[in-house]
Amino acid sequence: MTAKAPITQDVMTLPRKLPQEGKVNLVGMTRDQMREALIAMGTTERQAKMRVGQIWQWIYQWGVRDFAEMTNLSKAYRADLDAAFVIEIPEMVSRQVSEDGTRKYLVRIAGGHEVEVVYIPEEGRGTLCVSSQVGCTLTCSFCHTGTQKLVRNLTAGEIVGQIMMARDDLGEWPKPGEPKDETRLLSNIVLMGMGEPLYNFANVRDAMKIAMDGEGISLSRRRITLSTSGVVPEIARTAREIGCLLAVSFHATTDEVRDKLVPINKRWNIETLLDALREYPKASNSERITFEYVMLEGVNDSDEDARRLVKLIEGIPAKINLIPFNEWPGAPYKRSSNNRIHAFADIIYKAGYASPIRTPRGEDIMAACGQLKSASERQRKSRRQIEAESGLG
Ligand code: SAH
Ligand code: SF4
Repeated sequence: MTAKAPITQDVMTLPRKLPQEGKVNLVGMTRDQMREALIAMGTTERQAKMRVGQIWQWIYQWGVRDFAEMTNLSKAYRADLDAAFVIEIPEMVSRQVSEDGTRKYLVRIAGGHEVEVVYIPEEGRGTLCVSSQVGCTLTCSFCHTGTQKLVRNLTAGEIVGQIMMARDDLGEWPKPGEPKDETRLLSNIVLMGMGEPLYNFANVRDAMKIAMDGEGISLSRRRITLSTSGVVPEIARTAREIGCLLAVSFHATTDEVRDKLVPINKRWNIETLLDALREYPKASNSERITFEYVMLEGVNDSDEDARRLVKLIEGIPAKINLIPFNEWPGAPYKRSSNNRIHAFADIIYKAGYASPIRTPRGEDIMAACGQLKSASERQRKSRRQIEAESGLG
């Protein structure tokens, strides 16, 4: 393979699944919900807990989709399950592989909607960037997803289903009886795909609980990072009910600029957001908060901004992730120069904070941060519309 390997794109022509009328999908149910569902099917209360344990393990530890393979259940019970339930995950429509190995999947969910999922391989690990909504109700002016009009919340099954689909594609389900392989291709999850996860709280929580469950996918809470634009009332709840790491799309150091970049700031401003963040590590007993900061030329990238940022976050255990702006067709901003980004990073670093500059991954396939937008959604707002709405025009 040459260094400039061609981009590959497979368009899957999967056979359309037969309609599974009346059957309930087990994927995405919490253990309690599965228990209720099994009891409704006729499983005795006494047996239900054990059955949940067995089925759970088949689905989430071994990646089994067919009840017939659940060999520790009786044939009659497997037939009952098959008559009542399905084990279904979103359908992969296409997969693109970037020259840097990043994979971008387009997946189709019920109703014909499509979302994107990105797998980023790294040395000794790999991160899956998961979507929580089709589009996003918020309209951050630098974000491609924010220009997508169509929005619906993903179900818990559609969220955890993205992880299962990626494990299918990576061939990463262990086989029963084989020793556990601790080096994982898919070792980390970031909720940084399409959508605002805290506007779909219950489904995101249930999906992450399933991903963290020790009898299944078994990812530690420290390997899951939820990124929010700043839905303040849900931040404490995230600590309590999910306990994962938190990243915040900060992006500006004055309310005036943040109002334009991240319009949710008009509802919960910088001060309110910082108050909520100060409580977060205490509540979840977790590590530092990641402040995401997109570098936009002439908008938020001055030395003064860097110094203001350091002052604002004083007292919060933090790491500042600088994201060079990823362009998309019609975007109203430019990426700051490398020199500017490094000068900015330097000020933050000297103040005692880690300030990594995120290397854009999968740019050639539009898989980098903020570039996601389903191919089915072709209607795009014009640059003028975006500028007018962001007040920057
Ligand atoms: N809605 C959530 C998570 C999805 S966005 C949030 O806003 O935090 C994931 C990250 O990518 C966010 O920090 C977002 O601000 C950033 N981002 C969006 N568009 C971008 C772009 N064009 N270039 C670089 N980063 C971008
Ligand atoms: Fe939505 Fe996040 Fe994009 Fe803002 S940056 S529009 S919150 S996905």
